[in-house]
Amino acid sequence: MEFESVIGLEIHTQLKTQTKMFCSCKIVDSNSPANSSICPVCTAQPGALPKPNEKAVEMAIKIGHALNCSINKFSVFARKNYFYPDLPKGYQISQYELPICENGYIEISNKKIRIKRAHLEEDAGKSLHAIGSEKLEHTLVDFNRCGVPLVEIVSEADMRTPDEAYEYLTELKKLLRWIDVSNCDMEKGELRCDVNVSIREKGTEKFGTKVEIKNLNSFKAVKDALNYEIKRQTEAKLKGENIEHETRLWDASKGITVVMRTKEMANDYRYFPDPDLPPLNIEEEKIENIKKSLGKLPYQIKKEYVLKFGVKEEDIETITSSRYLNSYFEKILSFTSEKETIKNSLNIINTQVLGYINQQKIDEADIETKAPNPKFVFEIAKLLSANEVSSAGAKKLFEEAIKTNESPSILVEKLGLKQTNDLSEIEKFVKEAVELNKKAFEDFKNGNEKATGPIVGYVMKQSKGRANPKIVMDILKKL
Ligand SMILES: [Zn+2]
Repeated sequence: MEFESVIGLEIHTQLKTQTKMFCSCKIVDSNSPANSSICPVCTAQPGALPKPNEKAVEMAIKIGHALNCSINKFSVFARKNYFYPDLPKGYQISQYELPICENGYIEISNKKIRIKRAHLEEDAGKSLHAIGSEKLEHTLVDFNRCGVPLVEIVSEADMRTPDEAYEYLTELKKLLRWIDVSNCDMEKGELRCDVNVSIREKGTEKFGTKVEIKNLNSFKAVKDALNYEIKRQTEAKLKGENIEHETRLWDASKGITVVMRTKEMANDYRYFPDPDLPPLNIEEEKIENIKKSLGKLPYQIKKEYVLKFGVKEEDIETITSSRYLNSYFEKILSFTSEKETIKNSLNIINTQVLGYINQQKIDEADIETKAPNPKFVFEIAKLLSANEVSSAGAKKLFEEAIKTNESPSILVEKLGLKQTNDLSEIEKFVKEAVELNKKAFEDFKNGNEKATGPIVGYVMKQSKGRANPKIVMDILKKL
């Protein structure tokens, strides 16, 4: 029997608003003193009333647009009831029957992964069982995170391999960062991921019993946990065992999943519309304006570049991965529309510029001010396309330009890196080289391209590295 896996993802992303979802408490990071940003609303004092954060609603609409969802003009906040010490109200405000966004999709490797829904909700607080390494006698609760706005994005079970799940996550994170609604730092809990996975006999339609996995705090953990779980379920099926409908935890140190609880059903949460909050009524015009404000999205830009410049998708992966890198590249496009120069610029960005950014640990948001001058990149790329500098020369120019902050078009002369395209000068050297390396020349004539090494070497030496290798080869072939 051959099996295939069926995978769906639930993502929680923390929105980058200044204040919380239903009160005006500032959002503070985890280093802030416990309970330093709380009020009667987010700690559920009697009589306190929630009021939705308009910015969070706008961000949810942005997310819906980016995920190709339909945005519901009318949506409803619902109470999801459960008891936990870090949830002072005894329920979480979420959206259930009428979410703000529905029926979207993300494209990965030319496959559409459908998005079932994306809805607004609030985060819970944090239980504190220890301070540092010291275990506390009582559990304490920090409500700073209580009421922080989240958007939950639920995919359909359209993924078939752990790799597809990984790709989906990567694409989603890229989009959320691009539209500036979340930083998506998994270590800080700004992006949280639960997966559900089942297996079924290949070729069948019916879903198997699904298992949910929690506690996945990196993309790698998602992939590893899925691989483990698919193997575990396949082995169980082959032994004739039943797969239990349950929630499991990923134990990264042991590389296994362990049972956490048998799955609760939605009706265990007793969802009902929150009587304290009127339904959200959003004007069509507002939805359209938010869409316009988004500008082009990375997947649209990618398609455009491929069409316009004839570049390969993998070459534009990085410059469409973040809006900062993209605006860096767009600056170069403001200097040139020449395809060859654009391709050379991309090459320089993908190797040297990114190398510099990583080495100097430049923050994405600082690319505009701290990355190498895009004009320099353009100038080097142009020299390359005009065959006025060799690729080795171009590398050196880049390094010197950063060091001296001098324009490469001036440096190329100063450093004597300008390649000569002077035919008669190169031809003279080539003829000398052929005289001195008769055997090599014979071999070359007999079809051994590699035999030209000593000939080219001589020409390079005589021209002090300025001879254009392409021209050298052209002359050799002619001879
Ligand atoms: Zn508050």
